[in-house]
Amino acid sequence: MCEQVWQFIREKKFFGMVMPKKWGGLGFSGHGHAVVIEKIGGRSPAAATTIAVPNSLGPGELLNHYGTPEQQQYYLPRLAHGIDIPCFGLTGPASGSDAASMRDEGIVVKENGVLGMRVTFSKRYITLAPVATVVGLAFKLADPNKLLTTGKEGITVALLPTQANPICPNGIPGLRTGERHNPLDIGFMNGTVQGESVFIPMSAVIGGEERCGFGWNMLMECLGEGRGISLPAGAVAAARLCTMAVGGYARVRKQFKVPIAEMEGVQEKLSNIGMYTYQVVAAQAMFDAVLANGEKPPVLSAIMKHECTEKGRKATNDGMDVMGGAGISRGPMNFLAPVYISTPVSITVEGANALTRSLIIYGQGLTRSHPHLLHMIKAIQDGDNQEGFNKELTNVIKHAFTNMGRSVTRGLAVQVVPKGNDISGYYEAQMSRLSANFAFCADVGLTMGGGIKTAEFLSGRYADILSNLYMGYSCLWYYEKNKHVEGLDKVLDMAMADHCFKIQEAIFGISSNFPIPLMGPVMRAFTFPRGREYAEASDKMRRAVSQSITKPSEVRALLSQNVFVSKDEKNRVNQISRAVSLACEADGYLAACRRAKRQPTAEEQKVIDEAEVLRELIIQVFLSPFSFLSLCACTRAPRCWVAGR
Ligand SMILES: Cc1cc2nc3c(=O)[nH]c(=O)nc-3n(C[C@H](O)[C@H](O)[C@H](O)COP(=O)(O)OP(=O)(O)OC[C@H]3O[C@@H](n4cnc5c(N)ncnc54)[C@H](O)[C@@H]3O)c2cc1C
Repeated sequence: MCEQVWQFIREKKFFGMVMPKKWGGLGFSGHGHAVVIEKIGGRSPAAATTIAVPNSLGPGELLNHYGTPEQQQYYLPRLAHGIDIPCFGLTGPASGSDAASMRDEGIVVKENGVLGMRVTFSKRYITLAPVATVVGLAFKLADPNKLLTTGKEGITVALLPTQANPICPNGIPGLRTGERHNPLDIGFMNGTVQGESVFIPMSAVIGGEERCGFGWNMLMECLGEGRGISLPAGAVAAARLCTMAVGGYARVRKQFKVPIAEMEGVQEKLSNIGMYTYQVVAAQAMFDAVLANGEKPPVLSAIMKHECTEKGRKATNDGMDVMGGAGISRGPMNFLAPVYISTPVSITVEGANALTRSLIIYGQGLTRSHPHLLHMIKAIQDGDNQEGFNKELTNVIKHAFTNMGRSVTRGLAVQVVPKGNDISGYYEAQMSRLSANFAFCADVGLTMGGGIKTAEFLSGRYADILSNLYMGYSCLWYYEKNKHVEGLDKVLDMAMADHCFKIQEAIFGISSNFPIPLMGPVMRAFTFPRGREYAEASDKMRRAVSQSITKPSEVRALLSQNVFVSKDEKNRVNQISRAVSLACEADGYLAACRRAKRQPTAEEQKVIDEAEVLRELIIQVFLSPFSFLSLCACTRAPRCWVAGR
């Protein structure tokens, strides 16, 4: 990114979007934050990443919740105004997904009368590190000489300025930043944070001495919101861009003398794009509404992170198929390649998706959503609470039998029959039935004890059920708010058919692979007594969804909201936005002329010619005069990019 962009971002307080107004921030809600990331993400993943990080898991969030008054008063206004640029270092060479296994260690010391820590650390992949002026650092703290009066040993989070300031008057000599990684040539700042036996004064610990050892809880509490907002927002941006621009391109691009949007093979991809867009938009809207109610739902944020980034990736992949060579040839005309290239970043960061699906979603969800399990675990932890344990165990068993009854009765009573006009009512009944089925399957899962958490083939499928239930309910919720949109019921139909089918397949997958004899068949008999009932989206559904995003329609307008359309008429997304209705009108005239075996009128010919001119522009790709990608290959941040120095 060029210096003007950095300047703009800082001046307009993009780094302080979620920071409360009292500290000089913009005080945006989660949804406000999400739509800004979304708007930028479809155009520049590099800028969106740069802005998202300080607004999600960063020093700002941690200081706001846990900082001492001195830390808050000094840092927060500076962060809000972009005077300080933050980064946060958790990941190291040996500790990626298993972040708690970090090797970065410090011991409490007292030097020249100042209480502090000597810490050795090596962090990598840290976004914004090469330009950061304050580095959030997580490390394991030991206190062999018992110098701590409050706080304790354990993971601790400190804020290290790269230059001396009132909180750290001597700076942090030995702190090294500036080395860069090159994440897929996307162009955002990412690099290392290192130091050997660096002295960090106690005043640098976020929250001060009393917060020593509480770093892990602080991180987990603050991670949830960012994980559920910024990464899903990037995925929504990708999906909306595909609906708007790829859907439009498919209408304009012709092969075999017809728009490719009319070919069933392409419609298969386009209908996926429409469906994924609806699903992620709905999930985002419902999650942001939950946050606005003051909830901090860790399981839902994990579901959001996994489901939205996966669907964003699939929409982008399908988009690339539809674009053909126009998606592959790099250059300013190619609106999709930057999004495609940056997709693996959102899959990997803040809990890589394989880990999130197979370990976090169900592992966390199981104990948190069960009405008695947490109490039972607590009774075990209490040691000699036999009576409490027996009571909770009885509750767990009673609950299991109730769930079993509900699962089989709903499985028999809720029929998969023609839907009539009440599509949302029909799917609401299916979701209620599938929720009952899930509750019973989860009880069966308990027979594996703690082993279920590491049986990742199974827990991944359990996560799929839970995730598809959340996504399904959010589709119904979003439809309720937007049912005036003509044609939205068709998209809802396809989206819900997809969720029901995936839940069914996950249940069959668990029951076929359940390791305890007889449990699998029991699970199947009490969930799907009539056997498989849900089918994948039909061709009719696909045709309807594909048409709705490739022609001017209320659905296309709803799902394309918030896509950045440049005012520059040479911009490809701008051209496509103008071309879709023109192409439809022109093709309508041509078809009418063919049917009537007549020539177009002068007025019709004018529209046909205009559409043709625009089409000719849109099918061109950039001719690269030199290898411009090599320009991105520098390995250190140029000084002019180093903000605040
Ligand atoms: C561009 C970029 C920016 C980043 N920014 C930051 C940052 O600002 N601050 C920061 O601290 N970190 C940052 N990270 C680090 C990021 O959070 C880690 O990359 C991530 O946690 C995964 O760690 P890893 O890359 O070492 O992969 P690994 O941990 O080696 O994982 C490799 C694969 O194994 C899977 N896996 C691991 N364990 C399990 C399990 N138990 N079950 C199932 N699957 C499992 C993972 O899902 C993944 O697919 C960034 C990374 C990238 C690439």
